[in-house]
Amino acid sequence: MNMQQVSDNCFAVMNEKNRVCDANSGFINLGSGVVIDTQSDLAYAHQMVELLSKIWKGMPKRVINTHEDADHVWGNQLFEGAEIIAHRSMPERMRHVADPRETQKLLKSANGFLSRLLLKVIHPGALAIAQQLQQDYDFDGIKLVFPTTLFDEQYVLDLDGTEVQLIYVGPCHQVGDIIVHVPGEGVVFAGDVIFHKCTPMGWVGTYKKWFESLDLIISLDPKVIVPGHGPVCGVEGVKEMKEYLEYLYEDTQRFFNQGLTSLAAAKRMDIGPYSEWRGPARLYLNVERAYREFRNEPEDAPWNSAKCFDSIYEVANARGLEIEF
Ligand SMILES: [Zn+2]
Repeated sequence: MNMQQVSDNCFAVMNEKNRVCDANSGFINLGSGVVIDTQSDLAYAHQMVELLSKIWKGMPKRVINTHEDADHVWGNQLFEGAEIIAHRSMPERMRHVADPRETQKLLKSANGFLSRLLLKVIHPGALAIAQQLQQDYDFDGIKLVFPTTLFDEQYVLDLDGTEVQLIYVGPCHQVGDIIVHVPGEGVVFAGDVIFHKCTPMGWVGTYKKWFESLDLIISLDPKVIVPGHGPVCGVEGVKEMKEYLEYLYEDTQRFFNQGLTSLAAAKRMDIGPYSEWRGPARLYLNVERAYREFRNEPEDAPWNSAKCFDSIYEVANARGLEIEF
């Protein structure tokens, strides 16, 4: 993990490994200190606070959660007494998708001798992701701490005269997606609306909405964008991500029209230069998302996460890739 200053008062805390759960955080060095996203576990959250201590005395008093995924909210409990700001949908969604007990259970199964053998047979992908997560994370002791300030479309903070705009753009990658814009410093903290140099993973929403959100970020003309995952970028990173999603959506339509399953399409699709991005087999998720649209399913149709990770595992095997999520 490292910290990077991206403007006069904005900082990025980067997780360079850039696999599942390796989310970035942000920090605004104004007002009473604002942390954007709180990492995946308590050890990582502590490490982030340690990095921030170089530029900020004491604990920041404000937290913004860009959306409900575990890797952005599981460090919330470290910021006791802080105001936590997020979209209105967040408490309900966090209960639904970020219940730590589910992940704790999976990791326990991956450790038990018999349960591991069983998992290997029934859900090899779920076992593989559990084993990957165990290399870096410890999810014991995590309690869900919910946002204290909720908003609908837009929320504005005045930090010592510097305006910070929180803009709701979801559902595009998740239900609660917001971006944090600091216009005076030309910075956007994009949460998981942007994955840079790594394969995006979108759960709820439509491609159309995701494209609109990317266009909105481009229209804000920021100098620096801190993505939810991957290195800091400029507008070119947003355009690259949009090209990836456009390419994928169009090619997926072709496979869908040919009657292939989403899994078969994800195994076969030529993804050219995007195969260099981290976790290329995660494209299964994006293919399946497009299939859901072609089948006119609701944008919040639930995922069976074990099956989903099994499919990514199968795609990686079929493509001769290292198993990595
Ligand atoms: Zn994330």
